Amino acid sequence: MHLPDYDSPSFLKNYLDSRGMAMQKKFGQNFLVNPRARAKIAEGTAVSEGMKVWEIGPGLGALTAELLKQGAILTVFEIDRGFILLLEEIFSDEIQKGRLKIVAGDVLKTWKEEYRLSGPPDRLCGNLPYNIAAKIIADTVCETVRFERCVFTVQKEVARRMAAKCGSADYSSFSVLCSWAYDIQPLMDLAGGSFWPRPNVDSQAVVFTKKADFPACKSPAEFLKLQRNLFSSRRKTVKNNLTALYGSAETAQAVLSTAGIDPKSRAEDLPIEKICLLADASCKIMQKSAVRNGGNI
Ligand code: SAM
Repeated sequence: MHLPDYDSPSFLKNYLDSRGMAMQKKFGQNFLVNPRARAKIAEGTAVSEGMKVWEIGPGLGALTAELLKQGAILTVFEIDRGFILLLEEIFSDEIQKGRLKIVAGDVLKTWKEEYRLSGPPDRLCGNLPYNIAAKIIADTVCETVRFERCVFTVQKEVARRMAAKCGSADYSSFSVLCSWAYDIQPLMDLAGGSFWPRPNVDSQAVVFTKKADFPACKSPAEFLKLQRNLFSSRRKTVKNNLTALYGSAETAQAVLSTAGIDPKSRAEDLPIEKICLLADASCKIMQKSAVRNGGNI
């Protein structure tokens, strides 16, 4: 590997300039130029020799290089065609040796095929643009795909939403998805100066570890449908949101009574365990109603 100087913004700028390239804001490109942070993130990923690792958004490979040093067999997902050409140049040996594979394109469109081809990785990591971080987590969890351990570097506000607890203003459908599937722990805070170009916001690296007791309800599909609907109008009571979902106040009440949940509560008051109870109650009431209607709900 003949690596660029990942610690030096001026080196990186000249490196791109000399190839007629520039950073693209639309792809949320901010390189992690803080070597201690890269080392800590790589360490937090807890890779050992031969582990299958996915990295989303390798950029020019600053974290990629760390992970390869630890013995990862890496698949990286990158959208920027210019970066892909540079990665192919920088890591040509690793690509030839089968230690690095580059999947070109939008990870939101490519991950499923890669998952189908090669199965789940042991680790997933990435320094991700805000919208991609939220979507990739939501997309994978909605497909009930979970990874053993993930390390994401995201805007601090996103990290807060990921780990938000019931009752807080940040608690949302996204928090429910994240902590339904994973235990979430902060790894380190990163000030804007750790990146080039320097973003206006602070970031945080967070570790997701697969929850042992997932899913704690009978039907993950019902849970996912319910939690989306419960937060669709935060100000509405749970009963009103469920009435909109079922098209019937009577069914909504029956589900709430079966789950033992106060109809006047709001989604932000419901911890995940209660949403699981609601999902189970919803399945039960729907089945009863199907039997009553001779199979037609
Ligand atoms: N990992 C590098 C680092 O830490 O220095 C770069 C991180 S930069 C914040 C985000 C990277 O994600 C960029 O390389 C960008 O091109 C890539 N990216 C953005 N959107 C993407 C998408 N939808 N699919 C794949 N990669 C994407």
